[in-house]
Amino acid sequence: MADYQLFIDGAFTDAASGETFATYNPGTGQKLADLPKAGRDDAIRAIEAARKAFDEGPWPKMSGAERAAKLRRIVELINQHSAELAELEALDSGGTILKAQMADVPGAVSAFEWFARMAEERPDRVDLEGSPFPVSQNYIRYEPIGVCTGIIPWNFPLIMAAWKIAPALAAGNTSVLKPASLTSLSALKLAQIIAEADLPPGVVNILAGPGGTVGEELASNPLVDKTAFTGSTEVGRRIMQLASGTVKAVTLELGGKSANIVLDDADLDLAAAGVLWGTFFHGGQVCESGTRALVQRGIYDEFVSLLVEKANNIVVGDQMEMTTNIGPLVSRGQVETVERYVKLGRDEVGEPLCGGSAPEDLPDHLDKGAFYRPTIFADVDNKAKIAQEEIFGPVLCVIPFDTDDEAVAIANDSIYGLAGGVQSGNIERAEAVAARMRTGTVWINDYHLISPERPFGGYKQSGIGRELGTQGYDIYRQVKHVHINPETSGRDNHFHYGVLGV
Ligand code: NAP
Ligand code: MG
Repeated sequence: MADYQLFIDGAFTDAASGETFATYNPGTGQKLADLPKAGRDDAIRAIEAARKAFDEGPWPKMSGAERAAKLRRIVELINQHSAELAELEALDSGGTILKAQMADVPGAVSAFEWFARMAEERPDRVDLEGSPFPVSQNYIRYEPIGVCTGIIPWNFPLIMAAWKIAPALAAGNTSVLKPASLTSLSALKLAQIIAEADLPPGVVNILAGPGGTVGEELASNPLVDKTAFTGSTEVGRRIMQLASGTVKAVTLELGGKSANIVLDDADLDLAAAGVLWGTFFHGGQVCESGTRALVQRGIYDEFVSLLVEKANNIVVGDQMEMTTNIGPLVSRGQVETVERYVKLGRDEVGEPLCGGSAPEDLPDHLDKGAFYRPTIFADVDNKAKIAQEEIFGPVLCVIPFDTDDEAVAIANDSIYGLAGGVQSGNIERAEAVAARMRTGTVWINDYHLISPERPFGGYKQSGIGRELGTQGYDIYRQVKHVHINPETSGRDNHFHYGVLGV
């Protein structure tokens, strides 16, 4: 039997096949738990449960305030289990315990809180002023979409689970979630927490299992109305194809290669810290990481030396130690990807100014861990593969520019458009640059600050639609226009029927 179980139709269960798979601590290589490996039949059962809960159950008919109360109960329960959740998240994903305590658990909580507020405050009905016809009354009803599936990546497992489940539930939908196979632990723990909140059976279903079977079923099954996917652009394209069979609504949050632009009027010390924070937080395994630093020529040399000096102080080590700045990457496989790109960088660009290898001075218990040092390539041509392709690891490309126009052109020369930054002493100048960046978020003199209260998502091949904010709530609602002709008999206000001669 697995240590954790699938949550389907309000009950905990093993996979129908009885199969399990193991999950590991990427710092030590130690096995953490055996998890049930759901297959297509488990996914179908979960989807059918969600369908029944939507079509026949009370959830979509409840008021926003009633649903908000249930979401707040989930918040209470997450807070009660916060220490355990933070520990599981750090152990399983390799993110630091500090990140888990300060970002992951509070981030999940604030997502449930925000969408509870949305359920209470956003109206379900909006009356429209005036009539486009001789007489009519018109209004909009906002209704839940139906069965919403969520497929999430391994970099922020708990927050991503909350970003999929909370808005779906708040708006009256039912949900089926599949976490990434490398990091399913916190989502299965969240299932236990949600079970304590006593929602009607089938409203939330959580399954660990492979993308190729469970994920494909969640994106293609005809009983599903909407699929929300966060992950790579490559799998995002596949999700769109799968969802097109029954024309499902699709939200995609995909990859990025974001530019962090440092203008020559920036406070260099602050901007250098900002660029490093924007790139190396969580080992660069953040979709909106500012992995291209565009630096203006006049400050270039001084700025690059500052970057390298500060980067060499970043402590890579055991993610469970409070003094660690960067833990292991999520897996040995991810280290191999980084190594491939660093080799490519050495061929394309030359020797990195720092990093370019695993740390050498790690204690024995970490010698099988997936560690990699912060790595900086300078004088990179934006056309180089390491500047164009998402690496998803601790690798920064520094690219020089002369004018603000050139910075904007380089920033926008990417298939991606998720986010970016502008570091400058002149907010007006920074805003003018920000306005021309083709990305869903721009941070001025900051980076990485994402709140459930503000929309997040990508331009171009970084995605479709927005999560979070009021937009991220409305994207989980159907829009129904109701037109009432108040004339219940007679033809004064029905003269258009005469066009047909009836
Ligand atoms: P991934 O390979 O695209 O996987 C994401 C999820 O999709 C996983 O749950 C995976 O399951 C599943 N999946 C894989 N193949 C599938 C298929 N054919 N059909 C349905 N589902 C499938 O991405 P990842 O490697 O986990 O995460 C890294 C990527 O995510 C990066 O490119 C990053 O930029 C992107 N990302 C974007 C955002 C954003 O908000 N824009 C946030 C975080 C990450 P398995 O785990 O079982 O393979
Ligand atoms: Mg793991």
